[in-house]
Amino acid sequence: MSERVIALLDQRPPILPLPPLLAEQDLSALPVDRLRRPLTDLRISVTDRCNFRCSYCMPKEVFDKDYAYLPHDQLLSFEEITRIASVFVDRGVRKIRLTGGEPLLRKNIEILIAQLAALRTPDGQALDLTLTTNGSLLARKAQSLKDAGLQRVTVSLDGLDDAVFRQMNDVDFPVTDVLAGIEAARAAGLGPIKVNMVVKRGTNDHEILSMARHFRGTGIVLRFIEYMDVGATNGWRMDEVLPSAEVIRLLQTELPLVQLDPSAPGETAERWGYADAQGLYDPTLGEIGVISSVTQAFCGDCNRARLSTEGRLYLCLFASQGYDLRQLLRDPTKSNGELAATVDAIWRGRHDQYSVLRSQQGADTTHAPSRRVEMSYIGG
Ligand code: SAM
Ligand code: SF4
Ligand code: SF4
Repeated sequence: MSERVIALLDQRPPILPLPPLLAEQDLSALPVDRLRRPLTDLRISVTDRCNFRCSYCMPKEVFDKDYAYLPHDQLLSFEEITRIASVFVDRGVRKIRLTGGEPLLRKNIEILIAQLAALRTPDGQALDLTLTTNGSLLARKAQSLKDAGLQRVTVSLDGLDDAVFRQMNDVDFPVTDVLAGIEAARAAGLGPIKVNMVVKRGTNDHEILSMARHFRGTGIVLRFIEYMDVGATNGWRMDEVLPSAEVIRLLQTELPLVQLDPSAPGETAERWGYADAQGLYDPTLGEIGVISSVTQAFCGDCNRARLSTEGRLYLCLFASQGYDLRQLLRDPTKSNGELAATVDAIWRGRHDQYSVLRSQQGADTTHAPSRRVEMSYIGG
């Protein structure tokens, strides 16, 4: 394998050697990793580009006009993505989320969606196929995404106040366009819709209550995400994290909540339902979620693999290195069986639990890999 010279801000870290395969790899049982976690969820980044410059993800100072995005021939093609996705489905994946960068910027994404929507699990079931978007192109694309076979969307929205929202996306994008996108997604039947709000203390925490009021009773699930120390460019500081417990406390002052059971194993969000006058969950008012990526580690049942735009497999959001599956996909001598055996072997060797280790060491992230991969490269 050739050595690559890495510029200081190259967001693409070195690759890990692929595990050696046994001559007769047994694929009869689905893989579990070293912490006994199955592989059920695959996030695929379809582009490293974005039309927003959220400061917590792609700060303008780094992702400027000189930034070296991947050239088109480095990206996995739709055929390559579909082939590797089918291998993952064979190895246990039941949910696929398309992400980025901004996935709706990838040209003809509907073609990829149609290909993925046609995949079936070994027992003939369709996949749970979803996409995370900043919503900027959703008003235009919701219907074609639905027609292609997308089931639902998650829309990122960090505030309702136009000035706050423009400040968060840092490209002066108006909030009304994203709200129109959410409406279009609803009209197209891309539900249940989730809305993700990254909360940064001192920047948009004063929007928490208005966001909750806006989405309460609409069937849309609003989720508050703790600002994470992902990547290496956002200048993360613990004092800008608003712990989920504080979000819940704030909401309870005006909108009573009751805690709900998790909907599925490996669910990242803690669920809270709006309560009626008797203090009981009222399904007509709906629910919210909090994702406590910083203050409450949920690595114990993390069943997610991430495939970067250029086909590298990452086992953790905070990983510094990935496995180059593209070289296998582009090698005509490699069969799907060999791809499956490789995915299996990689997953069986996994022991990542970054958030657990971080919480054991408080806010100290000095033990973290120094060149963590950027969120815009592997997706959220
Ligand atoms: N561009 C799309 C979007 O914004 O929805 C998809 C990609 S984005 C990387 C996926 C998710 O990651 C978004 O919901 C975004 O808010 C979240 N995210 C990015 N950086 C984050 C950070 N530092 N902390 C917490 N969430 C972050
Ligand atoms: Fe773009 Fe999404 Fe990152 Fe914001 S969070 S910069 S919209 S990729
Ligand atoms: Fe999964 Fe890594 Fe996040 Fe833990 S830190 S939940 S292992 S992605």
